[in-house]
Formats: sequence, structure tokens, C-alpha cells
Amino acid sequence: MSFLAAAGARRLCAVRAVLPCLWRGKYFSSGNEPAENNSVTPMLRHLMYKIKSTGPITVAEYMKEVLTNPAKGYYMNRDMLGEEGDFITSPEISQMFGELLGIWFISEWIAAGKNAAFQLVELGPGKGTLLGDILRVFSQLGSLLKNCDISLHLVEVSQKLSEIQALTLTEEKVPLERNAESPVYMKGVTKSGIPVSWYRDLQDVPKEYSFYLAHEFFDVLPVHKFQKTPHGWREVLVDIDPQVSDKLRFVLAPCATPAEAFVQVGISFFFFNDETRDHVEVCPEAGVVIQELSERISLTGGAALIADYGHDGTKTDTFRGFCGHRLHDVLTAPGTADLTADVDFSYLRRMSQGKVASLGPVEQQTFLRNMGIDVRLKILLDKTDEPSLRQQLLQGYNMLMNPMKMGERFNFLALVPHQRLHGRNHQTNARQSKPSPSPVAGFGELAWR
Ligand code: SAH
Repeated sequence: MSFLAAAGARRLCAVRAVLPCLWRGKYFSSGNEPAENNSVTPMLRHLMYKIKSTGPITVAEYMKEVLTNPAKGYYMNRDMLGEEGDFITSPEISQMFGELLGIWFISEWIAAGKNAAFQLVELGPGKGTLLGDILRVFSQLGSLLKNCDISLHLVEVSQKLSEIQALTLTEEKVPLERNAESPVYMKGVTKSGIPVSWYRDLQDVPKEYSFYLAHEFFDVLPVHKFQKTPHGWREVLVDIDPQVSDKLRFVLAPCATPAEAFVQVGISFFFFNDETRDHVEVCPEAGVVIQELSERISLTGGAALIADYGHDGTKTDTFRGFCGHRLHDVLTAPGTADLTADVDFSYLRRMSQGKVASLGPVEQQTFLRNMGIDVRLKILLDKTDEPSLRQQLLQGYNMLMNPMKMGERFNFLALVPHQRLHGRNHQTNARQSKPSPSPVAGFGELAWR
């Protein structure tokens, strides 16, 4: 990509995080870690009341309540990202991450024929850091994009995080418009003059030509857990521990649950018949989001880039909690810790139901190397003699790329229209009878032109 070296060559951002902090993909285990906080939280009281009234709840319901209950949910009223928070993510570690993703979107926009307008839609934008880095690349490649009408659409359930995103992206020179009752609950204009809108649900984002981004979003969506027993698959539920007051525990449903029926219908060929694992996690909400993305991309074009830690239908119990950069018992002090489960990329691909083509998952180290992270690092290192900044850049690179750190555990998956891979959207070379589509960046080795 000839524009790679030019993109963002001038700007070196302030240091992101003092390493090391904990990233969420590091561990997989649940329930048996020592309890770190035994206080009876408002969320615990709420859940105990609920379980006493209607019986044990599914792990998915537990996760949804704990993370996104509008009043007491973990995500709703706090900033959990970064050194002071509970975990750290790639965009918070190094500016290079967002810059290379910015290049990816531009490269896809060019390959698809440089539409006159596009929406950039991010699911779960955290602090808005990733979008900020992407927008900086868009500004620096302004000559390419100058005739393109870009708008930003942020899907975010957290009031607190949406405020932080607004601070990151806008200077509030133009005051934010707010309407809590509307599906578009906030509107503003970014520092570079791009309109930005906030939604709680992807369904409410206009169905226009869009590029979608989901980084560490799918791992917080609620999972159902199933255990193989001599009587067949049984769903894992959350109940009150009869032995210890104010404590929750996992139990197995005595018979088939509605979710089991749903899962059997949805993916029966996947497990219950041939499944060799004795424990599986299924995230129907992730399936719904993928179906929506696939439908939109097949109808209007564009692409989706999904990055998360996960597996290809091989892992078992990955449900875990994080608090203050430490593992946290998932059932202790609910509402005070993040809950997450590894993303099953094979399930995501299946849920696209052939409406779009999928690429990957490829490991983060491969994707970023294919996107030119080594060149970008060199450019940034050449720009500074400041030893502490140079060290931060090298540490950030190591954290993102090292297979023992985030390089292998995190994966990238792309969804693109079928015609993107077969060349119908691509401008035809005059001497060729058939159009030859350019490869999708990041999913093949970097080719310098
Ligand atoms: N993408 C960011 C933040 C990841 S944390 C980064 O990589 O740094 C997960 C994000 O998803 C948070 O912004 C959280 O508030 C948001 N989120 C969680 N559940 C959500 C849901 N159901 N719908 C929309 N956003 C959600």
C-alpha cells in the first residue's frame, strides 16, 4: 500500500499506558479463583431477590444484568479501561493499533470503488481512543478522502463511556445534542468536523453504506453455558448457595431449558450431535449482531472488521471476571468486576449464513504485520530521540505483537460482500477482460507498490 508510509507519519501521540497492565484475553478459567471482594453489592441484592422470586437464572441473564443493567450494571457508570481501571485494550496500549485499522478502512473503501459517502460504525467504543486514532489517519490522508462524506455512528450502552467518547472525539465547540428518549441519544461534531451520533442498539443505525468496527465488543455479550452429563446436555444456571448466606453458586438445570432448545435449533449440526467437548459456551446475542451486520453488508456494501480474543469452536470454560487488573471470581461482588468470555469465531462465521464472505480469523500479530506495523514503528521511532517515548513505543509493539502477550490470543475477522472478492465492485483494468480485485489488507502478506 503506497499510502501506508504517508499515513500519520508526522504525529507522535502521548504515551498511552504504563505497562504492564492486564489485558482480558490472558486467562481462561471461572469460578474457582479466590474471592477478592466479599461485600454484598446492590447488584448481588438485586440478583438474590430475582432468584428468590423466579428461580435460578441462566449465565447469560446473569452476565447481562451484571454488565448492562441500566441502573447498577458494571459498564453503565464507570470508566474501567486503562491503568486506573480493571483491564487494558490494544488501542489504549499503542497509537499504532488504531492507525493501522484506519488504513484498513481506507483501503477497503478504495477497493470497493471510493463511494461518495460512508458511515463508520463502532460497536462498544470504550473511551473513543481507537476512533480518535482512526480519525487522525483520515485527516492525514485528507487529500484522498476530501470528497467523501464521512459520518460516525457509535453503538454504546454506557452513559459514562459515551460521555468520555464525546470528550475524546469532540471539542464540544458545537454543543452536544442530547435526547435520552430517542434511539439517537446524543449527537455532536468531531474536532475535524465529522458528524457523530450515539445509539444503544445497532438496529437504530441508518442502513446506509457503512464500515463496521467491533474491538473487544463480542466478548462482553452474554453467553449460555452447557455441560455434558450422562443425561445429555444441561444448561449451567446461577443459584443462591444454600450453605453460605449472600453467596451465589453454579448449578445444573435438572432438565432441558428454553435456551438449550434455541441453541439446538440454531446450531444443531455443530454440537449436541458431534460435539466432543464436555462444556460449551454459546452467545446467541453475538449471532444476532452478526446476522444484522451480514444483512446490511450484503444489501448496501461496506465491510466489518471484528477483533477480539477467542477460538474456533475448540475451547470450553472461558467465562471469567477482571477487577483492578486481577482475575476475579465471576460470582463474587457482582457489578464491581468485568465479566467476559472468549469469542467463538466459528460460530460468528456460521451466523453470517453465507450472506457475506468472511476472512480470518487471523492472529493479531499476523494481521498487524500484514498491515505494516513494522514500518509504522520505524517511522515513529525515527521521529523521536526521547528515550522514554522510544521505550514506550517498543513496549507497546511488544505487547501487541508478542505471541506470549496479545499477538496470538487476539484474532481478526472481516466480513465483506461476496462481490468484493470476485471483483464486480472493483474498477476494471482496461487491458483485462475480467476485473481483478485487490486482496483484502491484513489477511494476506503486505505487498508494496
Ligand atoms: N472497544 C473498546 C472498549 C471495549 S470494552 C476498546 O477496545 O478499548 C466493551 C465496550 O462495549 C464498552 O464500551 C461497553 O460499554 C460496550 N458495551 C458492552 N455491552 C454493550 C452492548 N450490549 N451494546 C453496546 N455496547 C456495549
